Amino acid sequence: MKQKRADELREAWGDKPCDHPQLAKLYDLGERTGNFACTQCGRVFTFREKAELAASRGS
Ligand SMILES: [Zn+2]
Repeated sequence: MKQKRADELREAWGDKPCDHPQLAKLYDLGERTGNFACTQCGRVFTFREKAELAASRGS
C-alpha cells in the first residue's frame, strides 16, 4: 500500500476502533518503507509493532 493511500484510509476511518485484521507493506514513492499499514483503518505499524500485534493475538 502506498503511504498516500494509508493517509486517505486514516482520514476516512477517523478514530473508530479497529482490530487491524490485515496489514500491508507500506511503500512511499515506490520504495519499501519497512513499515506496514492496516488495510482497514490505515494505521501505520513498524515491523516491531506488527510483531507485537501478532504476539498479542497469540499467533
Ligand atoms: Zn486497523
